[in-house]
Amino acid sequence: MTAFSLEPAQLAWCAELRALAAERLRPLADKGEPGRVNRALVAELGSLGLLGRLFTSGALDLCLMRESLAYACTEAETALALQGLGAHPVHAYGTQAQRAHWLPRVTAGTAIAAFALSEPGAGSDAASLQLRAEPGTDLRDDRAPDAAAQALRAEPGTDLQGGRSSDAASQALRVKETFTGPQGGRASDAALRAEVDAASREGRTSPDAALAAAPDGPARWRLTGEKCWISNAPEADFYTVFARTTPDAGARGVTAFLVPGDRPGLTGRGLDMLSPHPIGALDFDAVPVTADDVLGEPDRGFRVAMGTLNLFRPSVGALAVGMAQAALDATLAHTAGREAFGGRLKDLQAVAHQVAEMALRTEAARLMVHAAASAYDADDPDVPRRSAMAKLLATETAQYVVDAAVQLHGARALQRGHLLEHLYREVRAPRIYEGASEVQRGIIAKELYARQEAP
Ligand SMILES: Cc1cc2nc3c(=O)[nH]c(=O)nc-3n(C[C@H](O)[C@H](O)[C@H](O)COP(=O)(O)OP(=O)(O)OC[C@H]3O[C@@H](n4cnc5c(N)ncnc54)[C@H](O)[C@@H]3O)c2cc1C
Repeated sequence: MTAFSLEPAQLAWCAELRALAAERLRPLADKGEPGRVNRALVAELGSLGLLGRLFTSGALDLCLMRESLAYACTEAETALALQGLGAHPVHAYGTQAQRAHWLPRVTAGTAIAAFALSEPGAGSDAASLQLRAEPGTDLRDDRAPDAAAQALRAEPGTDLQGGRSSDAASQALRVKETFTGPQGGRASDAALRAEVDAASREGRTSPDAALAAAPDGPARWRLTGEKCWISNAPEADFYTVFARTTPDAGARGVTAFLVPGDRPGLTGRGLDMLSPHPIGALDFDAVPVTADDVLGEPDRGFRVAMGTLNLFRPSVGALAVGMAQAALDATLAHTAGREAFGGRLKDLQAVAHQVAEMALRTEAARLMVHAAASAYDADDPDVPRRSAMAKLLATETAQYVVDAAVQLHGARALQRGHLLEHLYREVRAPRIYEGASEVQRGIIAKELYARQEAP
């Protein structure tokens, strides 16, 4: 890339991605159920090789993918981004066993990933998260003494993972029953170890997830608390979960864990959002994890979270640019054809200038996103400031452009099913997630003042 434009090969790739999104992904997205994970869509992203590129491309390529897919199919863009967000910690911080087990499934689109940081009481202030990871040596609980035996008798077919009736879902049920019991009580330590060993032998959990690898096995914790607004929950196959291992230590006492969706004690529910995003809340009722589930190092999980968000922040801007461009192109077509006052809408200077303003702001946002992503790829020192600026400008710009597009389309834009009705609902959330606009301004100001010499 030169300073101001993409290479011809990159432009051709973007055009190819837009065509794939319109022709191959859009039809699958249309068949999806609003608010639910669309596994067929994710699998198609996998077979097109796009999920694999999440882990081999740099930040700029990630932006180009997100912008191009968002232009023609926001659902596909979201599905791609969520696989990246949830699995990047495994790719960048996971053990060899964790990577070998999960990443091939993520890139094939057969395992759904999720990134579980936010809590009801800790959103922007993520370092104050309260999900507890308590040392889990004493797992005594006699409310469900023969839960393992019950599990062996349990019939498959009931669905705890959002309606799937696959073997995996029924296995998940059996494991959950083992540890929670029909009344929700926890199994004894011995029963728990026996069942996890059995599950591991049968390949029902990741090979590195066996709780009882040895009597003096690895460190273990119980996760207790809530996560909220987690994309792909509760249907994800695994979650990168951020939990507090050291109380009152702020960002320094947080550990990242890879928690398979079928872990005992883990339940969740979907949330109904303005745009039909697959998203939900998770409840952790003494969910067992061990040292083998840690991503990175204990108490260093906040670095995992921030490292992941630093990569993805400019690409949220790219998603926004893709939506803005789609709204702009629709507006150009509409205003060029719509007859009014003896001419076309485009002949009214107020309309033409509005369209020019939309194009101007979209292009400026795109350049800033590409510059921030390139800075990330070049390992520049001012990535936090550039990323914050790109995310802030692009998401606020997209809101402006989509709103102006609705205005210039008139009533038809508000009709259910119209592209702009869809974009109007989709464009709102990126100004809040992965750091609200106000938080980005805070980052920018902090970076600027850090360069000022103290008086
Ligand atoms: C569609 C969607 C998908 C999401 N997916 C995920 C996910 O996959 N994983 C995950 O962990 N989370 C996810 N989230 C949650 C998201 O990260 C949080 O909503 C976000 O961090 C803001 O937290 P909050 O909603 O609790 O708002 P709060 O933190 O309560 O903030 C509310 C408002 O207060 C203001 N504010 C907050 N902090 C500051 C500040 N420092 N300076 C000035 N003003 C401030 C802002 O206006 C902000 O919007 C998702 C959210 C949405 C909407």
